[in-house]
Amino acid sequence: MTQIGTDVHVAAEFLEAGNVVGIPTETVYGLAGNALNPDAVLTIFRVKNRPAFDPLIVHTDSLQKVRQFVADIPEPAHQLAQAFWPGPLTLLLPKRDLIPDLVTSGLPTVAVRIPRHPLTLKLLHLLNFPLAAPSANPFGYISPTTAQHVADQLGDQVPYVLDGGPASVGLESTIIGFEEGQATVFRLGGMAIEQIEAVIGPVSVRTHSTSNPKAPGMLSSHYAPRKPLILLQPGESPTPNNRAGALVFREPFGGIREDHQRVLSPTGDLNEAAKNLFAHLRTLDSLPVDVIYAEPLPNQGLGWAMNDRLRRASVQ
Ligand code: AMP
Ligand code: MG
Repeated sequence: MTQIGTDVHVAAEFLEAGNVVGIPTETVYGLAGNALNPDAVLTIFRVKNRPAFDPLIVHTDSLQKVRQFVADIPEPAHQLAQAFWPGPLTLLLPKRDLIPDLVTSGLPTVAVRIPRHPLTLKLLHLLNFPLAAPSANPFGYISPTTAQHVADQLGDQVPYVLDGGPASVGLESTIIGFEEGQATVFRLGGMAIEQIEAVIGPVSVRTHSTSNPKAPGMLSSHYAPRKPLILLQPGESPTPNNRAGALVFREPFGGIREDHQRVLSPTGDLNEAAKNLFAHLRTLDSLPVDVIYAEPLPNQGLGWAMNDRLRRASVQ
């Protein structure tokens, strides 16, 4: 059985011994292991049932440490790191040999991020290695935003979950890469494109992919509940149904039982909605409903990333 606690020293001991540990971040909870230890990295893939072609994000706590395992930080990447780290932004940078190929699924770049969570920053500060950490959920399912979500899903395989409270952003990081000086977004996420563009100018967005995705957040079916999810069109209402659930932005639909509905943000705040998205989807998935309807969010700020998640959750 897993232990849920708040002791970074206990977490550090498990990690130093090559174990995996659940860690809080502002985006979602991560399943962390020593990024420089291939056995620990293999354990992450095994526990998550994650295909080996799906590379992991490496987490650390300073730009100085990042330089130890990346070969180069292009100027726009540096500007973004200065502006947004610690924060929900992952940069794809050329890797040094120190990072095992297993971590990057053989790619020449490594995904790097400094997470914005006080407990995890304290933990990273204690360690003399970076942490590889994908989201702490079985591959393809909804990402965890509380320690309890991690314990519920992976508890029997993870000795310790560091409890840092509910995730403050609630969406996975935005992933951005740099090819010949051009910045490209590979996954929409917790850092809004508008904010990124305010620092480095226009970026291109390439979040759709075929069978061998560069970022599995790019797979068409991902982040999905077990119940079928139907993403409505803007302005569309679901047909009345006693056995349906609904995820709505500001207010419940008529025709669906109120106790089968979850409101993301009564005041229409997209950041609040993002924080609630995955927990509400989990709750809806556990209700006695046969189908979950989801209302699309406005296409601005974190609304883009939430619509992306709902689209992928709606593909069976
Ligand atoms: P997760 O933390 O479960 O959301 O997964 C990490 C995400 O980062 C996955 O979608 C990976 O494919 C993506 N990622 C990690 N490394 C790379 C890389 N070198 N190139 C492109 N995407 C990456
Ligand atoms: Mg994931």
